[in-house]
Amino acid sequence: MTATDDPFALQDSSLLRRQPYIDGQWQTGDGPALAVINPATGTRLGEVETLSAQAVARAISAAEAALPAWKALPARERAARLERWQELILEHLDDLARIMTLEQGKPLAEARGEIAYGASFAKWFAEEAVRAYGEIVPTPARDRRVLVLREAIGVCAAITPWNFPSAMIVRKSAPALAAGCTLVLKPAETTPFSALALAELAHRAALPAGVFNVVLGEPPAIGKVFSAHPAVRKLSFTGSTRTGRILLAQAAEQIQKVTLELGGNAPFIVFEDADFDAAIDGAIAAKFRNAGQVCVAVNRIFVHESLFARFTERFAARAAALKVGHGLDPDVQVGPLINEAALQRIRALLEDAETRGAKIITGGKSHKLGGLFFEPTVVTGAGPEARIWREEIFGPLVTVTSFRDEAEALRLANATEYGLASYFYTRELGRLFRVAEALQYGMIGVNVPFVSSECAPFGGVKASGIGREGSRHGIEEYLEIKAVWVAGM
Ligand code: ADP
Repeated sequence: MTATDDPFALQDSSLLRRQPYIDGQWQTGDGPALAVINPATGTRLGEVETLSAQAVARAISAAEAALPAWKALPARERAARLERWQELILEHLDDLARIMTLEQGKPLAEARGEIAYGASFAKWFAEEAVRAYGEIVPTPARDRRVLVLREAIGVCAAITPWNFPSAMIVRKSAPALAAGCTLVLKPAETTPFSALALAELAHRAALPAGVFNVVLGEPPAIGKVFSAHPAVRKLSFTGSTRTGRILLAQAAEQIQKVTLELGGNAPFIVFEDADFDAAIDGAIAAKFRNAGQVCVAVNRIFVHESLFARFTERFAARAAALKVGHGLDPDVQVGPLINEAALQRIRALLEDAETRGAKIITGGKSHKLGGLFFEPTVVTGAGPEARIWREEIFGPLVTVTSFRDEAEALRLANATEYGLASYFYTRELGRLFRVAEALQYGMIGVNVPFVSSECAPFGGVKASGIGREGSRHGIEEYLEIKAVWVAGM
């Protein structure tokens, strides 16, 4: 490939890696090569090498071998490596964002935001690494004490999705490594270049061999290797609830600890006392970011009946005005869907809604650009029996429904098996507390359409998952508690 037909055109071309990374080395694959496609153009960006199940097991052995020394390293030294990783990620932000937009499709500004967001977890958990304190507990017997130690759980496995191909990796790896664990990561097969670029930077940050490993290959086969291997003590997964169920069942085999960040079905409630303009802006941001392919994306908007007509009209006009296109074009706001299956699914959800009497207010069909581009779409009149109400949408499509009072809004919002993110807009203090306490969700945005930051716990309840990432709680997922009884004092 010559420089002119290199679609990546990176400042640092060695960020573009094509091989799995195990034990500090780039590995020759022993599985079939995997093509990586640009969803905006349908063209092939390149291919990566993949591994057989046996080779994946060798990665786990490498992580197992690296564990004792890494765990024994003073936390400050582990932290220094993580801080260096963060610095390197930020130094190469332009290249990393470009890789992401090309293989994932999201607008470049969003890709840049994701790289910085992801890097913030490396910094945050470098800071938390030195604060994994234990306790000394008094006991009923006078001559006894219990020392409570918090120790690295061991070798961790991580499986990450394509919608945030960089941030989800750092969000899992940084707390694991900070805690003293070693890790084997399987990134999504559609976005491997972002993962391998992070491995290249981890290598440059002098993470010791075997501490951070990236494997590529057939997802179910790798998932089985992860769950069957006795050295793997922890599995962290972000992805669909369907796959989460499979992995949770498999984790039973070795009784692995799990963190699962699964699907969502976020409600967005606009109360009659809301700041109307802020609610419109918030709903647009929380719906159409990453073309709606976000687990915390709004699925169902509920608007008080007094505002319903005005809200729907304004919101639909704003949605229709969003600029759809190739993520590298500077003013594009909505990129393509990830693949043909995603596009077909959006079509099927809409068709189902229409047969149940829903009305399309704007959008509803493929964008004039063709390919995987779909128009930002707003529908009304869909009820709980419609698939778009019940299922995670994962696309630029949303329903707007009116409600009469707070009780009805809460009943509708909670009527789902999911419980990840939710949003509501109000200016009444009492309602803020009442509604926040009544919503059955792990995260709630009140007058704000964002719920993701390294400083806040991220995670869901019900079918949306188990455990939390980020915040001081995030490191707990990678620590085990050990009680040491001391007598004869
Ligand atoms: P989506 O349908 O949005 O791609 P998935 O849950 O299928 O979401 O994918 C999230 C991640 O889980 C990806 O890295 C994918 O390769 C991986 N994955 C999918 N199925 C399995 C499986 N059976 N075992 C292990 N990993 C899997």
